[in-house]
Amino acid sequence: MTPADTVPAEAPIRAPRPQRPRVQLTLQVLRKEQLSSHMVRIIVGGPDMAKFEAKDATDMYVKIHFLNPGVDYAEPVDIFAIRDTMPAEHWSVTRTYTLRWVDVAAQEIAIDFVLHGDSGLAGPWAAAAQPGDRIIVTNPGGAYKPNPDADWHLFAGDEAALPAIAASLEALPSDARGQAYIEVEDAADIQPLVKPDGVELSWVFRNGATPDKSTVLLDAVANGVWLDGTVHAFVHGEREYMKALRDLLIKQRGLDRSQVSLSGYWAYGRTEDNFQAEKKEPIGKIL
Ligand SMILES: Cc1cc2nc3c(=O)[nH]c(=O)nc-3n(C[C@H](O)[C@H](O)[C@H](O)COP(=O)(O)OP(=O)(O)OC[C@H]3O[C@@H](n4cnc5c(N)ncnc54)[C@H](O)[C@@H]3O)c2cc1C
Repeated sequence: MTPADTVPAEAPIRAPRPQRPRVQLTLQVLRKEQLSSHMVRIIVGGPDMAKFEAKDATDMYVKIHFLNPGVDYAEPVDIFAIRDTMPAEHWSVTRTYTLRWVDVAAQEIAIDFVLHGDSGLAGPWAAAAQPGDRIIVTNPGGAYKPNPDADWHLFAGDEAALPAIAASLEALPSDARGQAYIEVEDAADIQPLVKPDGVELSWVFRNGATPDKSTVLLDAVANGVWLDGTVHAFVHGEREYMKALRDLLIKQRGLDRSQVSLSGYWAYGRTEDNFQAEKKEPIGKIL
């Protein structure tokens, strides 16, 4: 009997899943710009940008790979080889970041990091980064771009979503209409953003409230102008108030899931590793 003979007749026949190509870009920090009180832009580039494959999305994001500082890795570092050959505790730890812009001709990308204190990997790395520092990323994902058939666009998010909202506002046609709400700590975190005149931008301030307990973003969207026609919404940020915004938009306003790009980008008090792991548990589920 061959192995094929042992497969029950009703077993579904599945084509092998196409493997995503594993592409590592090892880049260098080129420049750094302080954008606001709690946000810094790091512009990175280098010869590996020749391997960069853009996604047709305005929320394009990469995984940044942080190596374990206690391990002596072979150079040049190959994060996939590390995964194939080394124990799990030596693997790189990843953090997810939006590409604020990509300049294909100059072979540069910009990433805007929230400075949220001394805890974590990516925030403190960005605060200390200097030109010449190495940064390893894997090729981007991304799922959202403004639907040109929508009558208007709604954006709501906190600092972590600000780069994706800013990139999306820039990509809108000049006659687009909409409402954008961005939650930050206070007025020192406001940045100038490029947007169509028909999109009204409101900055809302936490003013010392912890991000998981703050309701200012929810209140702003709930009480803000709701335009006529079909809306396409991009709503991302700290997990707990994303749940509240989900209820507002889907349960109360009756939007269809297809009209809403909505997810937690991070969770207060959780590292990204814990936050990602909790997505499989009830506390981490949003849609
Ligand atoms: C698709 C996607 C795109 C993202 N794009 C960006 C982006 O462009 N810019 C950006 O800054 N973030 C972005 N984020 C969020 C970012 O991945 C998380 O904030 C991540 O946890 C930061 O990693 P860390 O190593 O600095 O902190 P971690 O080690 O993950 O966490 C350490 C501690 O810091 C807290 N913390 C983490 N992030 C914040 C924050 N924003 N404010 C306050 N406290 C925080 C955690 O709750 C935890 O207590 C994005 C997330 C996703 C899923």
